[in-house]
Amino acid sequence: MTRWTEFYAHESCGKCTPCREGTYWLVQLLRDIEAGKGLLSDLDKLADIADNINGKSFCALGDGAAAPIFSSLKYFRDEYERHVTGGGCPFDPAKSTAWADEGSTAHQEVNA
Ligand code: SF4
Repeated sequence: MTRWTEFYAHESCGKCTPCREGTYWLVQLLRDIEAGKGLLSDLDKLADIADNINGKSFCALGDGAAAPIFSSLKYFRDEYERHVTGGGCPFDPAKSTAWADEGSTAHQEVNA
């Protein structure tokens, strides 16, 4: 979620305030949550910020940035909560890579 939102923050042209400021603050909150510095109240803040972006920005990038926040909070809220209560990301980041199922040998070959 953080990487995805970082993309939207990076691509925001800055023309409208909800998108420019909102995507910036979404990234700050998501980085804190991922690093174990988040609070359960930050989950409501994420939703509030996304709500302030959604439908209030000039182009579709704003809505595009807000939609995954809404859906991830709806369908994966328990995973957000595990980040907060467990002191950081409980998952192995290597498992989310394209080569996760190919074993460490394949990864080493790619990086050789
Ligand atoms: S919603 Fe579109 S126009 Fe507005 S700041 Fe974001 S990218 Fe720019």
